[in-house]
Amino acid sequence: MNGIAVDELICEHLALVLIGVTDGSDELALTVARSETNRLVEALALCLNGHPLDGLGRCGTCGSADCLLRRDIRLVLRPVGDGPRTSVEEDVLWLAAYGLGDDA
Ligand SMILES: [Zn+2]
Repeated sequence: MNGIAVDELICEHLALVLIGVTDGSDELALTVARSETNRLVEALALCLNGHPLDGLGRCGTCGSADCLLRRDIRLVLRPVGDGPRTSVEEDVLWLAAYGLGDDA
């Protein structure tokens, strides 16, 4: 399986998790959240391990104190502010970013 196929599987899995949690029944959302949260946290931790920081906080992969991965993760995990984190507009943008959804 090549990288593109693996990427498609990952994106499909993430989209199914998102749809299950945001659009499914309360029971389905709880089941998906409970079954997927640990896996998603582990996946995120693996990504961070691929960008190790030195003693000065510089990323060994990005070669900068402003690690691109950490910056993007921080943006995604920004505090919930003006409205629900999972608005329809955000879902559409998220799905489109992964080549999924109607606008892809
Ligand atoms: Zn980095």
